[in-house]
Amino acid sequence: MDAVVIGTGPAGLMAAEVLSEAGAKVAVLDRMASPARKFLMAGRGGLNLTHSEPLELFLTRYGAAEPFLAPHIRLFGPERVRAWCEGLGQETFVGSSGRVFPRAMKASPLLRAWLARLAGRGVEIRPRHRWTGWEGAAPRVETPDGGRTIAARATILACGGASWPRLGSDGAWAGWLPETEPFAPSNMGFRVAWSPWFAGRFAGEPLKRVRLSFTGFAGLGEAVVTAQGLEGGVVYAASAWLRESIRRHGPATVLLDLRPDLALPALRARLGGAGISTSNRLRRAGLAPAAAALVREGLPAPMGDGADLARRIKALPLVLEAPMGLDRAISSAGGLRLAALDPATLGLRGRPGVFAAGEMLDWEAPTGGHLLTACLATGRAAGLSAAAWLQAAAPIR
Ligand SMILES: Cc1cc2nc3c(=O)[nH]c(=O)nc-3n(C[C@H](O)[C@H](O)[C@H](O)COP(=O)(O)OP(=O)(O)OC[C@H]3O[C@@H](n4cnc5c(N)ncnc54)[C@H](O)[C@@H]3O)c2cc1C
Repeated sequence: MDAVVIGTGPAGLMAAEVLSEAGAKVAVLDRMASPARKFLMAGRGGLNLTHSEPLELFLTRYGAAEPFLAPHIRLFGPERVRAWCEGLGQETFVGSSGRVFPRAMKASPLLRAWLARLAGRGVEIRPRHRWTGWEGAAPRVETPDGGRTIAARATILACGGASWPRLGSDGAWAGWLPETEPFAPSNMGFRVAWSPWFAGRFAGEPLKRVRLSFTGFAGLGEAVVTAQGLEGGVVYAASAWLRESIRRHGPATVLLDLRPDLALPALRARLGGAGISTSNRLRRAGLAPAAAALVREGLPAPMGDGADLARRIKALPLVLEAPMGLDRAISSAGGLRLAALDPATLGLRGRPGVFAAGEMLDWEAPTGGHLLTACLATGRAAGLSAAAWLQAAAPIR
């Protein structure tokens, strides 16, 4: 075997794809019984592959990791991701928010076509093979038939981060790759001390089109009430700021604007003057039942006049107590330090012929297709570097 890839997520499969294109014999190992479980889970939300925003703006979404990731994403960015998906027979479209999805709005047809193409090129998928560390320079794996080392001339590590561990990516590899940052949830919900009545009545209800503001962040989108707190797109977008603030200073108070499309004076006029009940005012505000209940949550009735209520609807303070855990976060921060890699080749320093890609590297980004795009782009870069390494060491036949 020329190359072994560890992890059948999008980063690992993309590495296998470019290696097989270069003529290498490749095996892709995964500890799970079937490939790409997290990719399939991402498909449940429609599979937001990438984003149509201008590339320079797209690149800023990676924050501190932008200089590291940008050269790879410039070579395999949103346009290439779309073309790749369409090359697998899955048409894409741009949603109203600028996000790009496959027309099928799920991952399974794309994954099926991808695995068939890889199989046609001789790529071998080996499920139930768990990488457990090194034996000298070689990866050691546990298989249903016992433990053994893998003899391959190049290794690509694409083991994912540490969110949703039951889908396979449990971050256990941090135990034998020394240069790692601790994992933290990214794109996750936050705990809110709802009253039992509110949680029982509104868990699962969306708050459509709210503006969430917090020091250094303002975003518009959907939030979803859960039994324990609040999650959803606009919360995920703010999650890195909020996580860091809570880590340093404790619970964070965000402001929710429940009618972002109406200016305060217009809302005040609509809610009327004296002698109107709070229920009537909330009806006039045009709020969905969950949003109306949220305005009342934790406050004694009556709630003051129309001006007070309008102010509260435009800037409702909500205390986020703590981030939810890694088990249900969309992605994770932390992982293999970028400094542990050669930024051009994604080769692991001190381990010749070993490359790493995808979410296992220490970067984070908001949802919006930025996660999958960076996984595909770094998977491609690591695969190409491994192919060049094989070519230089002993030409691939
Ligand atoms: C609910 C949900 C929705 C999401 N929606 C989106 C979305 O719409 N858009 C988007 O951009 N991103 C989305 N994501 C994030 C995206 O799915 C991930 O960022 C992406 O799958 C990471 O790719 P990866 O190849 O780096 O790792 P993974 O997809 O996590 O794959 C890593 C693989 O490595 C295997 N592995 C781990 N350790 C070992 C080991 N020791 N031995 C052998 N195998 C091992 C795992 O079993 C796994 O199959 C979503 C995530 C979740 C959980």
